[in-house]
Amino acid sequence: MLTKIKNFILDLLFPIKCLGCGEEFENLEPKDKWICKKCFDKIEIKKEQICPACEKSSESGETHYKCRKEISLDGLWIATEFNYETTKEAIYKFKFNFIKDIHYPLSEIIIRSILKADELGNFHDLILSNFSQESGEEEIYTDKRKNKKTETIIVPVPLHKRRYNWRGFNQAFLLSKNIASKFKLPIYENAIIRKRNTKPQTKIKSMEDRKKNIKGAFFCPYHSLINNKNIIVIDDVCTTSATLNECAIELKRAGAKNVWGLVITRR
Ligand SMILES: [Zn+2]
Ligand SMILES: [Zn+2]
Repeated sequence: MLTKIKNFILDLLFPIKCLGCGEEFENLEPKDKWICKKCFDKIEIKKEQICPACEKSSESGETHYKCRKEISLDGLWIATEFNYETTKEAIYKFKFNFIKDIHYPLSEIIIRSILKADELGNFHDLILSNFSQESGEEEIYTDKRKNKKTETIIVPVPLHKRRYNWRGFNQAFLLSKNIASKFKLPIYENAIIRKRNTKPQTKIKSMEDRKKNIKGAFFCPYHSLINNKNIIVIDDVCTTSATLNECAIELKRAGAKNVWGLVITRR
């Protein structure tokens, strides 16, 4: 009740407008605000996924067989292109204006890209391993394989303590929570720890320097939680896949079977 009253007063004083068209929202829950349906429907699902190692086209984002020796990531799923102003604005306000509730529409972009994808390739077995669609088809599929099924776990890219205190939340964790709950997957928030505070990757130009900047920044304290599991590492945005790959290196050192990255977009 108190939250409702607080929201009502906040709406009167500072009406929330759609980040796309500027239309005002009235009497909506925080999760339904920020991007109106019309603007949300204009956000396109990424049509062509890329190999996280060579960045060339790859069906469903799986790392090419020949690129496997260069990278620890088994694949990368990117929900949308970085070319639509509304998405850019939402990500900027989420990360740098600290508007926490924007995690709702941003998570929806990722969820929709997975549910509406024509082809998920091997990513399907990870992300949809516990998800039953109404048709029941999915249930039969998992039932048959139950015994050999490897458990999939969602892991957010961690922030360093100092950066967490500055922003007040870990944006990757908020996205992870929504995605884990949608697809009924467990989430391990502290599977990876960031032991070193690094410069933001966007502020570094060359690929080599980005790799150096992030190298050895993470470690996995609980190997038994990771051992023999499939892991989906979630971040908001990736530039190169250097950060996600560094997480994958540590997760595989801890015994992970397959590690995929999952992001809203890549710039
Ligand atoms: Zn709008
Ligand atoms: Zn490749």
